[in-house]
Amino acid sequence: MQCRFCDNTNVKRFLELGEMPLANAFLTGDEVNDIKEPRFPLDVFFCDDCGLVQIGHVVPPQDIFKDYIYFSSTSDAVHKHAQYLAQSFKERFKLHDGSFVVEVASNDGCVLNYFKNLNVNILGVEPAENIAKVAVDSGIETYIDFFNEDNARTIKEKYGSADVILARHVFAHVPEIHSFMRGLKLLLSTNGVIAIEAPYLVDFIEKAEFDTIYHEHLSYLSLRPMSKLFKKYGMEIFDVEHFDIHGGSLIYFISNEGTHKVSPKVGQYVENEIQKGFDDVDIYYDFAGKTSHIKTKLMELLQQLKHDGHSIAAYGAPAKGNTLLNYCGISTDIVDYIVDKSKYKQGLYTPGTHIPVYSTERLLEDMPDYTLLLAWNFADEILGQQKLYREKGGKFIIPIPDIKVV
Ligand SMILES: [Zn+2]
Repeated sequence: MQCRFCDNTNVKRFLELGEMPLANAFLTGDEVNDIKEPRFPLDVFFCDDCGLVQIGHVVPPQDIFKDYIYFSSTSDAVHKHAQYLAQSFKERFKLHDGSFVVEVASNDGCVLNYFKNLNVNILGVEPAENIAKVAVDSGIETYIDFFNEDNARTIKEKYGSADVILARHVFAHVPEIHSFMRGLKLLLSTNGVIAIEAPYLVDFIEKAEFDTIYHEHLSYLSLRPMSKLFKKYGMEIFDVEHFDIHGGSLIYFISNEGTHKVSPKVGQYVENEIQKGFDDVDIYYDFAGKTSHIKTKLMELLQQLKHDGHSIAAYGAPAKGNTLLNYCGISTDIVDYIVDKSKYKQGLYTPGTHIPVYSTERLLEDMPDYTLLLAWNFADEILGQQKLYREKGGKFIIPIPDIKVV
């Protein structure tokens, strides 16, 4: 196998999660009984040369993203974050009437809508037709396709160069990274800024977020490999900003080399990664050990509760929940059902484990004794919303980073 970023073959496998269905391939009631679900190996590797952590088996993105089920706008935290981004980008990069902001993987236009309110020109790029349609219907102009070199050229010819290219939670999903890179380089104006937001490897490893591993998520990003990659294209990371969103994410601010002053934070982040040992495979073997420990502990707890006659439901049906459920082997013999705010998931069944998904109201109606929080990255938001359930005696089990019952 070759490293996705640097093409070297010096990669080491440190974690095997087994054969898994696609994390967002929810099933209808008919499909649960009928189809044989496709499964693909889910193994994770470390590149000894550039330091990129990545999964080995690539499922073609066309199979995953053409009809997608994750809508950004279902999360309150995403709205708050988007509002902050629009305001801070405006001040920092002097956005004005006539500035052009492109968002790659713009989803339902939730984030771009906040930029639109600044009176700048905007364009979304989104491959999932069902989701792009929601954006277009709400007035967000959207180019419906994957972002790559060819599409970047078409966009540039039609709309001109971009002053800001925002790419939130997409860079790590791209298999053909070099075409994507050439597209960024081509579309960016000379003094423009690329802002890439992605889960940060350091949080991922330190908080044992093994459930964020799924087939869509090909790369697990950190400063060192990102710097090397952008350098190859005559660009540089000139600043970084850390957020708690999605379990700990980093925004990489990138420009053409020499056009923006490089913040000392960039060097500090690289130094910190090396000091903590992220440039060595050992830290990843430790992570694999922690992963299997969480599985053992969580299953002991759930089986004990079940044995004592308690009812268990789950909250949230995010993609990551399906990694956790499939890896641990949690099915309807343990969890009766899942509740989720997204009406697109309600009425469907989880891939691999076939647990039905209902609306969140069900929790209060039913009052299961315990609720496994699969969307643990939104724990504060969800515990707040479910105050009444907890007051009436319901308990949440938070599985990651340490198993907690609250
Ligand atoms: Zn590499």
